[in-house]
Amino acid sequence: MTALANRINYLAESETLAMSRKSRELRALGNDVINLSLGEPDFNTPDYIKNAAKEAIDQNFTFYPPVPGYEDLRKAICTKLKRDNNLIYEPAQVVVSTGAKQSIANVVLSLVNPGDEVLIPSPYWVSYKEIIKVAEGKAVFIPAKIENEFKVKPEQIEAAISPKSKLIIFSSPCNPTGSVYTKDELEGIARVFAKHPDILIVADEIYEHINFVGKHESIAQFDFIRDRVIIVNGVSKAFAMTGWRIGYIAAPLEIAKACDKLQGQFTSGACSIAQRAALMAEITPPDTVEMREMQKAFRERRDLMLKLLAAIPGMILNHPDGAFYIFPDISYYFGKSDGTIRVDNANDLCMYLLNKVFVALVPGDAFGDPNCIRFSYATSTDKLTEAVLRIKEALGQLK
Ligand code: PMP
Ligand code: GLU
Repeated sequence: MTALANRINYLAESETLAMSRKSRELRALGNDVINLSLGEPDFNTPDYIKNAAKEAIDQNFTFYPPVPGYEDLRKAICTKLKRDNNLIYEPAQVVVSTGAKQSIANVVLSLVNPGDEVLIPSPYWVSYKEIIKVAEGKAVFIPAKIENEFKVKPEQIEAAISPKSKLIIFSSPCNPTGSVYTKDELEGIARVFAKHPDILIVADEIYEHINFVGKHESIAQFDFIRDRVIIVNGVSKAFAMTGWRIGYIAAPLEIAKACDKLQGQFTSGACSIAQRAALMAEITPPDTVEMREMQKAFRERRDLMLKLLAAIPGMILNHPDGAFYIFPDISYYFGKSDGTIRVDNANDLCMYLLNKVFVALVPGDAFGDPNCIRFSYATSTDKLTEAVLRIKEALGQLK
């Protein structure tokens, strides 16, 4: 057997991608699977963006792009940051990568030395923990409770800080909870870091435009920590462009340069055609008909899910204000059985629902809360209604 490197042996497979793979396998066997596991919009990329990519091919954007991204795309991202977030950045502070996932990997690998601690409010997005593992950093989780809408308090962050703390990473709107930090809450967090000038703040804002409570608030707006914030964003979610693989950071110059250097050795930069499509996405103000329709659909689906799931006994619901996830506590069902299959944890419950009624979800352990399961509701209301009906029936059989 090949002796694989320790870093691969220690690395966990992405649970979101794994559940999605399992549901594809069951579907290939002819089963009517409803996949609520993968966090990806079900909409097609808007035509105005697709057309920009078609033109880019005809215009021969087929050569290696500059490693950190085309200059006009980086300028467009700066314009977007001013237009949507009132933040001033220079193109040299922007690095475009192969998805926000690679942007996060670039940042972590550029900053974290073995043994450095990375603070992660929990629940958190699956890949943070594993990327930190590759960098041989130590994840320090800060648990947030469902009663507090899964948001951490400044004093919890303060208590988790140690001389080894290097950075914090969190998403708002949050994957997997859908929670959105308010401006005041972000300011409270920012004030903690004002006291700790060596800690960097990675703000994952990939769900910026899927926000049901109004304007997006970035922690980068607070001047007193601004020079330590790394904004991560991208086109996957807001513009239904998951497959194009374009993400970016806006960061202090030194960090942007480090990511550029790393990326120059790893990928040589993101796909040229996808960058031209992303340019169209970013230069167009974010109130296109297509975007408004997607945002409206996500809100309707959120409302529908809250209504349908409220009718399931024992399920404790959180109230998502953004993204397209809901993260209920289902521990009421632990220790119960349908007579044949016993459910002892969230993983058992997800497997029970997948094998019995063909609904794919992701166990909360993947995101740091073993009492919960994650629903991605980025699919049609018909499918959501059918999925919850099936789940209700299957859970009803657990005694
Ligand atoms: N951050 C969060 C919180 C996410 O949910 C995702 C999901 N894909 C990403 C980053 C990565 O996005 P992408 O690589 O598709 O840009
Ligand atoms: N971010 C999405 C999710 O959480 C896509 C899957 C992934 O990139 O891991 O499901």
